[in-house]
Amino acid sequence: MKYVLVTGGVVSGLGKGVTASSIGVLLKACGLRVTSIKIDPYLNTDAGTMSPFEHGEVFVLDDGGEVDLDLGNYERFLDTTLTRDNNITTGKIYQSVLDKELGKTVQVVPHITDAIQEWIERAAMIPVDGQEGPADVCVIELGGTIGDIESMPFIEALGQFSYRVGAGNFCLIHVSLVPVLNVVGEQKTKPTQHSVRGLRGLGLTPNILACRSAKALGENVKGKLSQFCHVPVENIVTLYDVPNIWHIPLLLRDQKAHEAILKGLNLMGNPELEEWTARTKVYDQLCDPVRIAMVGKYTGLSDSYLSVLKALLHASVACRRKLIVDWVPASDLEDITRKESPEAYEAAWNSLKCADRVLVPGGFGDRGVQGKILAAKYARENNVPFLGICLGMQIAVIEFARSVLGLHDANSTEFDPETKNPCVIFMPEVSKTHMGGTMRLGSRRTYFMNTDCKSAKLYGNARFVDERHRHRYEVNPEVVPELEKAGLRFVGRDESGQRMEIVELPDHPYFIGVQFHPEFKSRPGKPSGLFLGLIAASREQSDGVSCYGSKAITNGMSNGPSVMKSCINGNASKFLNGSCNAIPMNGNGVHC
Ligand code: GLN
Repeated sequence: MKYVLVTGGVVSGLGKGVTASSIGVLLKACGLRVTSIKIDPYLNTDAGTMSPFEHGEVFVLDDGGEVDLDLGNYERFLDTTLTRDNNITTGKIYQSVLDKELGKTVQVVPHITDAIQEWIERAAMIPVDGQEGPADVCVIELGGTIGDIESMPFIEALGQFSYRVGAGNFCLIHVSLVPVLNVVGEQKTKPTQHSVRGLRGLGLTPNILACRSAKALGENVKGKLSQFCHVPVENIVTLYDVPNIWHIPLLLRDQKAHEAILKGLNLMGNPELEEWTARTKVYDQLCDPVRIAMVGKYTGLSDSYLSVLKALLHASVACRRKLIVDWVPASDLEDITRKESPEAYEAAWNSLKCADRVLVPGGFGDRGVQGKILAAKYARENNVPFLGICLGMQIAVIEFARSVLGLHDANSTEFDPETKNPCVIFMPEVSKTHMGGTMRLGSRRTYFMNTDCKSAKLYGNARFVDERHRHRYEVNPEVVPELEKAGLRFVGRDESGQRMEIVELPDHPYFIGVQFHPEFKSRPGKPSGLFLGLIAASREQSDGVSCYGSKAITNGMSNGPSVMKSCINGNASKFLNGSCNAIPMNGNGVHC
């Protein structure tokens, strides 16, 4: 096993995670099998308890691990399936050491530092790419910035680790910042010099410097950095500004970063990035807009819905549409806002009405629930394509019960425990009295009740799909017959038939709610079928999705053979090359 460690200096937010995933893409393109580990030096044991509005979304893995959103970047870029052990936190390490009850004085060195090294070696061996046996290279990203107090035990452990695995098996890439002073327009190297000095003082020597700067570094600047940081000029790359993150692997390849890394690891290879390059070019040239109203708890941090945004992007690129997301703060759609802040109310309704599609993502807590219900009602009544995810599905069901069945107090017991018409209830997989662990987390199977529904077709006529979950509440199975009689169809259920997984309105162009989170398994070359369906749906026609069988079509954009030739609402000829109607499908989680 070879290791690539990515550290960060000067400031946070330099795009260390994307750089580390892009290095993975480059190494994978050289024919190597790549896995990844993210180290988060915070004290929490996992990201599950952290607010997505402070820290960004909680990414969910197949095994139910609730992890940092950077693991989502790794999975998407490398098309891997990671495990909870691929995310190390200070909390997890201390817990594991304390659980061992060593019976002696427990110290940071050696007990914590040994535990970190053992964890890295163990997690690196877990196959994550669907093949057997360990990967060739493990990319480790150390969160935070060099000098942070909380990352010290990790730095010490990694210093020992690099010495133990030896030269030729370990390559350190330090991501830093080269600011440009406006007045003189000069690229300043001093912050990077200081940060590398700090790194070396802690026992780690960088092999490669990756410097964020608006423009490519001047040769004299590289020379200076090389001299002061003891890194060869050819091992200094610039992460200059690019139109989107898909360019980063290409930018690294163009600057021959792979040569420096492979040399450091005693490996050889040449990256083949044709498909990646083609997809990036398509992305750059999109001009036909598709406007999505994203109705959620908007707090200014778009990272809180990162995977949903990525899944929308993957589907839009596949459909050759330029994605425009309009954030609609759900609570601004509510009557109370009309009185308190009429401008915000008007702006929110304006965004909703101008949108081509409506998406209500997952969420917790009752803020904005009424606004989300109004958005679902608007989409249902006006034939606007709608996708509701997790809470988004639950509110779509509540809205239908209220408007169509006339059950005005229909609600989720999450928001009104005393409601007379509980349409969404607490249905833990374990006993209700069991302390903790009541969240339904990770991959679960959904069976299609019949194959003539849109979602089954969008999953390539699969019999069942495996998707990731993160919720406590579910549609009350007792109200399902009444809802079905009124026209809602619960087309996907778990193996017991008691848990509703997918709901559809057959007489609507596209109205789908899912209890799971399809966004977590969407990949750039393998978009999620449900997101494709949303982007490709047409508002004018209500004849639903018509699909013509399954057929592998090579269009330079799909990663696998599970490509469906699809015509959605008779509109397909618009998506690809203006003529071909091949839509690359998400092979993940689809089993026929
Ligand atoms: N709050 C809802 C539940 O727990 C929905 C969760 C979600 O959207 N992820 O069931």
